[in-house]
Amino acid sequence: MNFKNLYDVIIIGAGPAGVSASLYTKRANKKTLIIHKNESNLQYAKRIENFYGFENGVSGKDLYEIGIKQAINLGIDVKEEELLKITQEENNTFKVTTTHNEYISKTVIIAIGTKKAKAKINGIQDFEGRGISYCAICDGFFYKNKNVAVLGSGNYALSETNDLLNIANKITILTNGEEAPEFRAENVDIITKPIEEIKGQNKVEEVIFKDKTNLKTEGIFIAQGTAGSTEIAKKLGLLLNSDKIVVNQKMETNIKGIYACGDCTGGLLQVSKAVYEGTIAGLQVINFLKDE
Ligand SMILES: Cc1cc2nc3c(=O)[nH]c(=O)nc-3n(C[C@H](O)[C@H](O)[C@H](O)COP(=O)(O)OP(=O)(O)OC[C@H]3O[C@@H](n4cnc5c(N)ncnc54)[C@H](O)[C@@H]3O)c2cc1C
Repeated sequence: MNFKNLYDVIIIGAGPAGVSASLYTKRANKKTLIIHKNESNLQYAKRIENFYGFENGVSGKDLYEIGIKQAINLGIDVKEEELLKITQEENNTFKVTTTHNEYISKTVIIAIGTKKAKAKINGIQDFEGRGISYCAICDGFFYKNKNVAVLGSGNYALSETNDLLNIANKITILTNGEEAPEFRAENVDIITKPIEEIKGQNKVEEVIFKDKTNLKTEGIFIAQGTAGSTEIAKKLGLLLNSDKIVVNQKMETNIKGIYACGDCTGGLLQVSKAVYEGTIAGLQVINFLKDE
């Protein structure tokens, strides 16, 4: 391993939760990296008037930018890259894969917020665990030499497709009306038609498109938009309650060295709660690193 590039903590998310965590870890001299994709729920908040310290309120967009500047001014590495997956390595470290790089860290704080809900497709929820999967690395093996589909059109969908390339017989990327991604591989097709529903008897059997044509398939990997807390948690084996990451009062998840904070843990979806949980996660990481 290249120890020069080993981080003490990698924080996914530059919203109030992630930045708050980083202020504590960096000030405790821990090598800290923040990764974010410059899209936070905060940016949709026109004016925040219920958070301490702004006499005339503050726009969510400004607050997000101030937070990132504060982290950069403190000397924290902040990278604008999209997270694709986090995996546990053998030597008690974690590998964080983004659209641009791979990073290794002793601990990870997930402060990824919540994802905007995608258009619902009938059948997805009904067939979860029976042909619908959220994780190609975890479930791909069950589809060895079978024909499967990946629902999505962004970098995350392509990363899931890549993980299936040497396992499945044929992969069809379903963009559900969105533009086809640039992707070429011998056993990969792309269908851009909007989807009506997913059908089957006891498990997924076919996708019905709005133009009433269909595609027979044995499995569908959901990878719409970017990877959110559900996808990241399922890949890592983190406990979820519905789509929220389960943490204890120390913001510890069920995996040692992985913490979560802010909107992705559920409860009150407010800046103040995200700041509080980020603070706890940062302090707990410092404590954890003391004991190693
Ligand atoms: C319209 C609206 C109005 C609101 N008004 C208020 C208000 O008045 N007062 C209040 O207190 N709260 C308000 N909120 C809630 C507040 O915005 C959230 O509670 C707060 O932003 C949560 O902080 P967070 O750090 O947990 O997540 P977020 O701020 O959502 O940050 C998530 C971070 O994760 C990053 N990320 C996500 N996925 C990936 C990925 N795949 N790869 C890399 N990075 C990723 C994002 O880029 C971002 O940096 C409002 C929310 C909305 C939507």
